[in-house]
Amino acid sequence: MRIFVSSLFHEGNSFSRLRTGLASFAIVRGKALLEKVAQGSSGLAGGCRRLTASGAEILTGVSAVAPPGGPVEDVVFQDLLSEIVGEVEAQRPDGVFLDLHGAMITESLDDPEGVLLAAVRQVLGPRGVIAVSLDLHAHVTPAVLESADIVVACKENPHTDYDLAGERAAALLVETLQGKVAPVTASVWLPFIFGAQMETARGPLAALHARRCQMMAANPQLLDISIYNCTTLVDVPDGQQCITAIADGDAQLAQAAVEELAALFWTQRDAFVSDFMPLHDALSAVTAGRIARPAILGDQGDRVLAGTPGDGTAILHELATRWPNLEAVVPITDPAIVRIAQMAGIGAEIEQPLGGTLSSGICPFRSRWVVAGLGDGRFVQDGPYLRNEPATLGDTAILRSGNLTVLAMSLPGFTQDPAAFRSQGIDLADKDIVVVKSGYHFRISFETIGPCLVVDTPGISNYRPGLLPFAKRRPIHPEDIISRPALTARIFASVAD
Ligand SMILES: [Zn+2]
Repeated sequence: MRIFVSSLFHEGNSFSRLRTGLASFAIVRGKALLEKVAQGSSGLAGGCRRLTASGAEILTGVSAVAPPGGPVEDVVFQDLLSEIVGEVEAQRPDGVFLDLHGAMITESLDDPEGVLLAAVRQVLGPRGVIAVSLDLHAHVTPAVLESADIVVACKENPHTDYDLAGERAAALLVETLQGKVAPVTASVWLPFIFGAQMETARGPLAALHARRCQMMAANPQLLDISIYNCTTLVDVPDGQQCITAIADGDAQLAQAAVEELAALFWTQRDAFVSDFMPLHDALSAVTAGRIARPAILGDQGDRVLAGTPGDGTAILHELATRWPNLEAVVPITDPAIVRIAQMAGIGAEIEQPLGGTLSSGICPFRSRWVVAGLGDGRFVQDGPYLRNEPATLGDTAILRSGNLTVLAMSLPGFTQDPAAFRSQGIDLADKDIVVVKSGYHFRISFETIGPCLVVDTPGISNYRPGLLPFAKRRPIHPEDIISRPALTARIFASVAD
C-alpha cells in the first residue's frame, strides 16, 4: 500500500480583523516531516505511526500548521491545495491520509477543507480511499463527508488524543484498502452554538461521551463515533454541532447511534453556561495564598487558541492598577512595539502603548518599559498538545515594568505551551502569575508548573449570546428562537462502493 500523507491545520475566527498569512504557518516536508512525527502527538504523527506499523509505504506531502486566527489568505490556501493535489496526482497513491483541523476559513471560502477534499477525490479517483483526522472543534460539512471515506475526530478536550484520532483514521484506511471493512457514515447536525463547558471529561459533554463509549464497546461493527463541537467563532452557513458514526457496512446501525446521541445532545443545549472564575477572585486568592504560585491564568476573552489576535489587555490593566505586588508575565501580540524595542535595543527604555490595536474594543495599556530581551519567536512545542510541532510567535521583545513582564509577540502564537516562554528567555518559576492565551489546552501543558484557572475576561472568545454579529450561521440557538430540529441522520457511503 502506498499512502500519501499531508496535514493542514488552522482553526478560523470570522470576527478577527487579522488575516492568517504564510508567516503564521510552520511548514515542513519530506524528511523533516518524518522527523517531526516520529515523537509527535499530532493526528499526522499517530496516522504515520499506524501506517508504518501496517507496512504501508508513506509518501510525504506538505505539513502546514498555524495557530487559530483570522481567515487564511486565499493565495496561501490555494498554494497549499495545489501542492497537495498536485502531489496526489503525481504520486498516484492507493490511499490518502490527511490530518486537518477542520475549521479553517479563508478570505473567500467557508469550507476550504470540503474544497480540498473534493479536489483530492477528483485526482485520486473513486477507487482510492481517503481518510481524515480532525480536531473535534471542526466545522464538518456534507462536502467533507461526501469526498472522504473515513473522517475521525479526536475525542477529548483538552486535546490529549490527536494522535489516537490519526491512528484510528489510518487503521480504518488500511483495513478499507485490504477489504476488511466497508465504512459507511451517518451524520446528524444540530443548530446550536456554545462557548463554555467545552471540556469533554466534565460538565454536559461528559455524559454524551460516556454514552458514546458504551455504544462503541457494545458493538464492534461501530468503527468510530465522533462528537464535534463546531468552533464558536466561525460564521459559516452550516456551522453546527455534528455527530458522525462510522459502521462497517451497516448504515442503520450508524444512523441509530447518531440519532440517539443527537437527541441527548439537543436536550443539553442550554446547559453550557459559563463557569469561569472572576479575574478579581483569582488574583485575590493568589495574593491570599489560597492558590499556589505561579498560578496559570487562561485569558478566556482573548484566546489565540480560539483565533483572537492575542492583544487583549484586561489582565494587564487589572494587575497594574490593583495588584502591583504580583510578579506576572503576560503575552501580548503587538508587532509595532516589538519593532520599536528592536530599534531601541536591550536595556533601553521605551514609552509606548501596548496591545489593543488588532482587536476591537480593547484599550491599549500605557507604561514605560525596559527592553529586557529580544527573540526570534521560534520554538518547538513540547507539551502534550501538538508535541514536537515547530511554531512561531514572530519576532519577540521582553518588556519589563515594575513587576510586570510582557512577552510582546509579532504574531499571535501558541502560548498554551511553556516552551513559548522558555524559548524566549522567560523563567516561569519566579512568577506569581503566568497568563496564557488559551482556555483549555494550557491545562495539560502547565499542570506540573502551577494551578491552572480560566478567568472571566472580556473579549470575543468569551461567548455570550448576542455578542457577535453572526450573519451566515443562522438561524441558530441561542442567537435565534428555533423549534426542535428533525435530528435525522444523513448517510454517506464510501465513495468506492
Ligand atoms: Zn480544538
